Amino acid sequence: MSSVAIIRGDELLLFDAGEGTQRAFLRAGIGLNRKTRIFITHLHGDHCIGVLGLLQTMSLASRDKPVDIYGPSGLSGFIRSSQKYLRFGLTFDVRIIEIRPGLVLNCKEYVVRATPARHSVPSFSYCLEEKERPGVFYPAKAKKLRVPEGILWSSLQHGHQVKIGRRIVRPVDVLGSPRRGRKIGISGDTRPSAKLRALFKACDVLIFESTYGDDHRDKAIENLHSTSREAGQLAKQAGAKQLVLTHFSARYADVKPLVKQAREIHDDVIPAEDLMTLQVPYLD
Ligand SMILES: [Zn+2]
Repeated sequence: MSSVAIIRGDELLLFDAGEGTQRAFLRAGIGLNRKTRIFITHLHGDHCIGVLGLLQTMSLASRDKPVDIYGPSGLSGFIRSSQKYLRFGLTFDVRIIEIRPGLVLNCKEYVVRATPARHSVPSFSYCLEEKERPGVFYPAKAKKLRVPEGILWSSLQHGHQVKIGRRIVRPVDVLGSPRRGRKIGISGDTRPSAKLRALFKACDVLIFESTYGDDHRDKAIENLHSTSREAGQLAKQAGAKQLVLTHFSARYADVKPLVKQAREIHDDVIPAEDLMTLQVPYLD
């Protein structure tokens, strides 16, 4: 079932929570009291039912930090009515944010954007994009400008100007050019579209659904899903470095042919599997 956990520093960003997510969560040893935000692509059971079990599991572990949950219109009704009728209280606050397309979240170090997907119910695709980081610090330049080592170096490294007597030393005097952050895209269920190509432009990793292979392209069109080849085409057109295929139809006992079809278009394609982990290094 669909769920992608991005662990970034001390924070967890969870994209979708299909049935049984809490079990995978425990097996993956992610931790139930981490700073957490959950993003739901759409209200189909295989993408959102697991939220309920996950919240309850967190509560059983006496979680105290709030959880923010983002998703399409109807998300609040789904969670609040489940809480009411299933009568489950929680040890922590849940904030539900029904989103609009565009900038969903703007944090100090990253943003999350959403674009409408093309699926049978209101759906979003998401993109996590880190902001630029300050450039590499050159100690020799700092020494030459007679900046004493220690806290002032650290300030400059973090992009703040410092004052030495009457002189101002700016970060640009001692740092290289700003460094690009990482970008990760998550499609949810969707047909390919120009909007998604734009959202996923130059992703380091693009996690894209490939419910079907070439043999069932008609079904992909009919059911508003994608084929692995279409995922490959979109990733290639968007300039995504790596494509991770996911959400394979249960009809495929072996997904190798689907991966092969995508690889005919894009040269870095891997199939997702349960509990798979992936490091996403900085380019530099
Ligand atoms: Zn769906």
